[in-house]
Amino acid sequence: MQVTIDKNSGYCFGVEFAIKMAEDEMENSDQLYCLGDIVHNDMEVKRLRDKGLVVIDREKLQELSNCKVLIRAHGEPPETYKMAIENNIELIDASCPVVLKLQHRVKTAFDKMERENGQIVIYGKKGHAEVIGLTGQTLEKAIVVMEEADLEKIDYRRPVTLFSQTTKSTKGFYELSEKIESKIKAAKGEIEEIDFNANDSICRQVSNREPQLMRFAQENDVILFVSGKKSSNGKALYQVCLSENPRSYFIENETEVNPDWFTPSDKVGICGATSTPMWLMEQVKSHVEALEENILEA
Ligand code: SF4
Repeated sequence: MQVTIDKNSGYCFGVEFAIKMAEDEMENSDQLYCLGDIVHNDMEVKRLRDKGLVVIDREKLQELSNCKVLIRAHGEPPETYKMAIENNIELIDASCPVVLKLQHRVKTAFDKMERENGQIVIYGKKGHAEVIGLTGQTLEKAIVVMEEADLEKIDYRRPVTLFSQTTKSTKGFYELSEKIESKIKAAKGEIEEIDFNANDSICRQVSNREPQLMRFAQENDVILFVSGKKSSNGKALYQVCLSENPRSYFIENETEVNPDWFTPSDKVGICGATSTPMWLMEQVKSHVEALEENILEA
């Protein structure tokens, strides 16, 4: 078997920056808290926990004072910054610049929508850290659309400004955008001007990977897609692989690899999400190469 790791897979610059910041800070600090998992990958979270990073939730944050807390790449709502000032918490802010820029765009659009009696709609996952940071820019008034049923929450006679969580699928965003536009047209009739502004705010680190991954999935006989099960980006990119190659398998680590998936002549491709560490994909590669000897012997 020929086993190849996709050179375009692995950490995006936002996640790489956050992990580097955490590691640098831990070299100089006795204690570093992180608000939520630094990355949606349990293996990497465990590695950093073993180095001393303490993961906390929002409730725990309220009890802390006089300490350092890392904000991960997903960003945070304004309340977190306010709470940190009140409790004398030093924030080590590793929010991704792409997310910070999106927060700013959402805030500006929200102010405009407030003046025009309009609505902010966010295509994303309710409760996802980045979405919490985005709805925080809108006094929690933004409508989060995750599935078809959520479309009922939009008033199609009022202006709509749509954004996307940075890690959603491009295809899903444009399908949603079309549905909203046609519902506005149906509600207002053809003569009335429609006030709909759709902003494709999917991160290019994610959307550019889709065509690259499609090619990679076509070039290999079997695809091992390595990602944490909680990663939105992982789920979206895995679907891209599956659409191109039905022999695509979603695994969290090498222990989930099933030898029955391969034949000796297969080309095996290993790829992953923007939250998948390279060391983990290399571990999977070594495991598959070791399996190969067993397959050949059988
Ligand atoms: S996927 Fe994009 S927006 Fe999200 S952390 Fe990575 S670089 Fe930043």
